[in-house]
Amino acid sequence: MVGQTRTSVAIIGGGPGGLGTAISLSELPFLEVTLYEKHSESREAGAGLSLSSNAWRVLDLLGASRGGSKAAPNPTLINGQNAYTGKVLSVVEHPENSAVDQRGAIRARRTRLQQALLARVPEGIIKYSKKLVHLDDLPDEGVRLTFADGTEVRADIVVGADGIHSAVRKSLFPDHKLRFTGNTAFRVLVPKSRLISLPEITSTTAWWWGKAGHVYFSDVDDEIENSDPLFEITVRSYHEPEIPGKTVGWGIPAANEKGRVPRQGMEFDQRVRDAVDAVEEGEWWEFAGFAGPRLDHITGWGKVALIGDASHPLSGAFGSGATFAMEDGWILARALELTQFTGRPLSDALEIFSQIRSPYYTRMYNHLDEVEEKLQQVHAQNTDFDGFLKSKIDSFLYGDKDFIYKNDISKVWDAYLEGNEPQE
Ligand SMILES: Cc1cc2nc3c(=O)[nH]c(=O)nc-3n(C[C@H](O)[C@H](O)[C@H](O)COP(=O)(O)OP(=O)(O)OC[C@H]3O[C@@H](n4cnc5c(N)ncnc54)[C@H](O)[C@@H]3O)c2cc1C
Repeated sequence: MVGQTRTSVAIIGGGPGGLGTAISLSELPFLEVTLYEKHSESREAGAGLSLSSNAWRVLDLLGASRGGSKAAPNPTLINGQNAYTGKVLSVVEHPENSAVDQRGAIRARRTRLQQALLARVPEGIIKYSKKLVHLDDLPDEGVRLTFADGTEVRADIVVGADGIHSAVRKSLFPDHKLRFTGNTAFRVLVPKSRLISLPEITSTTAWWWGKAGHVYFSDVDDEIENSDPLFEITVRSYHEPEIPGKTVGWGIPAANEKGRVPRQGMEFDQRVRDAVDAVEEGEWWEFAGFAGPRLDHITGWGKVALIGDASHPLSGAFGSGATFAMEDGWILARALELTQFTGRPLSDALEIFSQIRSPYYTRMYNHLDEVEEKLQQVHAQNTDFDGFLKSKIDSFLYGDKDFIYKNDISKVWDAYLEGNEPQE
């Protein structure tokens, strides 16, 4: 590119979406990519995550498939249990087991995915301790980015990969507001050896359902490849109180004051309480649920794109949000490549990105609406608690989700190209 000015791209956020986008965009020689991350180093606060065929496909494209190494194969079956009595109410096939990839569906440590992605990001393009506070549209000159440390930079394109509380989204759509739902997840990975006295807990992947919350248990490590495998515990509380002045956040260490997390399951079956009690002070991470209106647009100013949780806070609804974010970045790269080589303006690339990804998210939202409708019907039914739980579990399993777990993002792009071939 000697003698030519490259298009500058600023990616905000170094989660799976930002890192995946940095890999995809760095492969395009006409772009100069910088990623700004607010933390002083790369960190991944979550616990485990599920990866199915859709994930393998995008990870292969990013050269980061080893993010799924040493992981636990998804169990064939998942239990749904009454959290108070332990009664097994439902044993179902894991919804993601429809994996068409021979590596199957797996549950992996998030840190491993993060490390695999980081290893593929070219050296020197990540700037740490750079918290974006605001963007300004500079007509004909790109975008000005202002950081919390008072510095400013300019970029031709900005990618908002800064998660659910996105500062990029706030600049683009200042009227879009999130609210705390009270539905909070507390997540942790503990050495499985710590739970040795609880074989009923560690031998199954299970959801233990209560009235005001549930607990999820799962392997995240392959037992053969890890000498002391880790085990995932997620405690969901549906009605966390909103305490004025108290920080509620996404991926922050949970203040476990007075045993706050175990208290969620105080009346739960003794085995659940013992497992939760095995978590030590300071180990929990908290993910406070926020919701807001769905966005009509995921791009703005013809030069800013929102990807991953910044554009569609699904709160882990399909257990595939990291994959969605990486797919977003890969499609954005294809769109920029296409417009560059066909001499079209940058804004066209953003339009193509939105044209491909927005309907996909709309399809997910429609699915969630249908599930919600089923849940409302369940609440209206007058059954005993076990009957209610059984119907609730069934409503989560409702519908065909192959459009998610079997999604092949490169085929999505091919289909776009085929549909847009110039007519003879
Ligand atoms: C309980 C639960 C279970 C889940 N299970 C799964 C699962 O099994 N599989 C799966 O794929 N997904 C799962 N998800 C969803 C998944 O965690 C998210 O969808 C995914 O992390 C989104 O990636 P992202 O890169 O868009 O955002 P994030 O992962 O939130 O990353 C955002 C990044 O931006 C940085 N940042 C934020 N603000 C700024 C700023 N102002 N300036 C600079 N940097 C900033 C942050 O520090 C962070 O590094 C789950 C979520 C929850 C809550």
